[in-house]
Parts: sequence; structure tokens; C-alpha cells
Amino acid sequence: YDLFLNLIYIFELNFNMNIKKLKEAEIKFGNPLYVYDLSIIENQFKELKNGFRNIKNFKINFAAKSLSNISILKFMKKLGAGLDTVSIEEVKIGLICGFNNEDITFTPNGVSFNEIEEAYNLKVKINLDSLESIKDFSKKYSSYPISIRVNPNILSGGNKNVSVGHDESKFGIPQDYLDEIAEMENKKNIIIEGIHIHTGSDIVELDNFQEAFKKIFLVAKKFKNVKILNFGGGLKIPYFEGDSKTNILNLSNSIKKLINDNSFVTKNNLKIILEPGKFLVGESGYFLTKVNYVKKTPNKVFVQLNSGFNHFIRPIFYDSYHEIINITNPNDKEYEYDVVGYVCEQDNFALKRKISNVRKGDILCFKNAGAYCSSMSSNYNSRIKPAEVCIWKNKLVKIKERENLNNILNGQIDIF
Ligand code: PLP
Repeated sequence: YDLFLNLIYIFELNFNMNIKKLKEAEIKFGNPLYVYDLSIIENQFKELKNGFRNIKNFKINFAAKSLSNISILKFMKKLGAGLDTVSIEEVKIGLICGFNNEDITFTPNGVSFNEIEEAYNLKVKINLDSLESIKDFSKKYSSYPISIRVNPNILSGGNKNVSVGHDESKFGIPQDYLDEIAEMENKKNIIIEGIHIHTGSDIVELDNFQEAFKKIFLVAKKFKNVKILNFGGGLKIPYFEGDSKTNILNLSNSIKKLINDNSFVTKNNLKIILEPGKFLVGESGYFLTKVNYVKKTPNKVFVQLNSGFNHFIRPIFYDSYHEIINITNPNDKEYEYDVVGYVCEQDNFALKRKISNVRKGDILCFKNAGAYCSSMSSNYNSRIKPAEVCIWKNKLVKIKERENLNNILNGQIDIF
């Protein structure tokens, strides 16, 4: 518990130091703006690596979809991460960023066989999640070892959109089909070198993880050539002071215990992989936008922002909570506001939220905006996407230009 309080304290301290930097970033690069503190990413990476130091052959694969800017990917590589990818584009970007083929795992869901073949041609690790795609693969590439994503039949995760491991989910191979795949392996039609399970995101209950881990070990025993056990991502970060987070030491201890109970892991020197996104980058990110108006109606006070769900969709899509700080006026009396975007639909970022006195022109900062924020932004309403900036060694470094109208018009064909 003390360690937990300590971490919150360090986090707050870090943020207070960052307020100055965030203000500076907005003045220099405008808004809306994404800012990432690389020292937070580094600390998260070290915490995870350190927590698992007792586990031999442990590897962290960063879930590229959570924050896909090439400078972030290269930073992950510098830290020693591999890459978890879900599209052939992510695979290619990973290779461009210098990741080795064997450090990139491609875990597609429902993609065309052509895309799987492209990944095969690029010689990255392939992790298939349907019997149908495995059968197609075995017809042409029976000697290329693959991993399989197994549906653990567990309902866990912070929101229904990120709870992907239950038996009605489109993800993963139902366990009933595993004997058929083992039979294919016996007939030398396929080689299964890895077992993968990803249950969901924002998981804090160790029981849920443990249940999934036990399933991985059980499944692994069905196959003869297993070299990799991949436990997916889903580690939870705190969203507000006192909020829960996944306890890394408890997590690594439970994996360690299962390894000790299953001698085939050490005997075969199996590689143990975790592939977090949110845990590594969530807390590093800040999203800054200006207050266009403070609009009063008889019942409400709306803070109308210079942004919308086109830039920042998590509060709307996942109902996620992000702390909001008025960095222009952080220490004034607090009032209750509905914080909304400018998109022509309901895009409520926060309802009845207490924020330090908000005025027209103030800059608001959303915390925990590193994962699934910029990477999920779109050009809806023909809006351009924000610039992205890093704080690194106390300097501000731009890592993505703000878009302009050409980004929207490019590729469109005028037939009149
Ligand atoms: N692995 C897989 C297969 C995923 O689908 C996801 C997220 O969707 C992740 C890892 C990363 O999850 P998180 O960001 O919650 O750690």
C-alpha cells in the first residue's frame, strides 16, 4: 500500500512539474495537442521489467495500436520491447522502425488470407485466432511455426467493448477446437509454437489473470512444439487518485508459481510474453485543448472545447474517466461543468465535473491520454488531427505535425 501511495505521489509530483511544460507546449505548438512524457513510459517499462526479473526469458511486446507514432515505437525498441501488431500496416511500420522480424507478433482478427500471407512473406511471428485461417495456412505453409490465440472463455475487463475473452466474443479459438488443431499437428500439417490469450483491458482482479494463465498452461500441454507463452495485455492503470491498478508483483508471482508447477516451461526454456499497451503509455499522455466558450443555460454550464470525439473518443466509446485540469487556472475555486466537444453529435467528455474556475480561452488538460487516444482519432467532420509532442530530457520535441486541409483532400477524386 505504501508503495502504491508512493507511486501516486511521484505521479502527482511529475504532473505538477509538467504543468509548466504543458503550458509551454501549448504556446509553442498550439492546440488541440497530444503531449507524451517519455520518462513516464520509461518508468512504466522498467517497473514491468523489474517486476518480472525473476522470470527467465521474459519479453515485453508493446501493443502498437495503443500509440502508434514511429518515435514512440522506436523509443519502445530502445527500451528493449518487441511489438504486438494487428494489421499488416502495423507490421510494416514495425519493420521500418527497426524491430527484428522475430520480435514482431502479428495477431490479426478476421483479416483476409492475403494479409496473413504478406506477414508470412515478411517472416514475422504469426498468431492466428480461427480454425478457418489455420486450415488455410496449413495448406501452403505447414512447416512455418505459428502461435494460436485461444478464447479463454472468461468475462473480464473494464468495459464491455474491451472484454474480449468471453465465449460469445469474436476473438480467439474456442477451446473445443483445440484437439482438432493438435491432430493437424500430429499429421504434420501445422506447427504450433506459441499459445496466446488476451482476456481484455483494464483488468485489476488477479483471479481473472490467474484463470487465464492456468488455461494457457493447460492448452500448451496439448501441443508438442510450444516455445512461447503469450499472456496478452490488459494491465490496469489508475484513472484518478486512489483508483486501483494491476499489482505487477502479484501478477509476476502468480506466473512464476505456475511456471514452477509446470516443469516443461523451464525444461524447454519457454519464452514468456506480455503485450501491454495502456500500462506502458496510458499515463504518459496529456491531451490539451482550448475553451472556446463557457455556455450557460438555465440548467447547466457547458465548457465547449476546441476539439471533439474526432480527436479523443475514449470517454464516448468506452465511457472512460479522464481527470481534467485547467492548466491556465489550476488553483481557483472549483465549479461543476459539463465538458463537451464541437462535433455535431453528443460528445460529452465529462458530465458534472468539478474543475477550477473555467474561463473562455483557458487550456484544459485531459490526463491518461496516452493509450487509444491519438491512435483512435479520425477526420470526422473534416477536422484535421492534432500535432503530437514529447517531453524528453526536459525538452519539448515535436513527433507529429498538425494536419492541414491537404491531409483531408489528398486522395479524394473530384469527378465534376
Ligand atoms: N493484446 C491484444 C491481442 C489486444 O487486443 C490488446 C488490446 O486490445 C492488447 C494486447 C493491449 O491491451 P492493453 O492496452 O489493455 O494492455
